[in-house]
Amino acid sequence: MKKHSFHKTIKPDIPSDCREIQKLNGEFICGELPYKTELAFVKHVRKCPSCMEELKAYFMFYTTVRYLNEYGDSNIPQTVEVLLKKIEDEEYNRKVRKRNWIIAFLALFGAIAILGTLLLRGALF
Ligand SMILES: [Zn+2]
Repeated sequence: MKKHSFHKTIKPDIPSDCREIQKLNGEFICGELPYKTELAFVKHVRKCPSCMEELKAYFMFYTTVRYLNEYGDSNIPQTVEVLLKKIEDEEYNRKVRKRNWIIAFLALFGAIAILGTLLLRGALF
């Protein structure tokens, strides 16, 4: 019986171990990963020295090959650090934007509540 076979057809978009992380090196450097996967990738690499080493080695190899083939294409960042920082900054900005929206919403909601109370009092007295 192939009762649980359907589990295998679902491709996990969040890498869970070093082997999966290291398989994504190429796609990461090219910026081809979905946002959530990319984020999980960055978080893992930050905490895992061996994956960081792998990524750096891959990056060096990749940029060298690319440089030789395309004569200095400036689309790829100079170092892995720049690449990682870019994604972390994006995530930070995303969180700040989200927080600002929540604050704006709460402020609006508070204003409506106060206005409503005032109107109610005005109508009662
Ligand atoms: Zn790792």
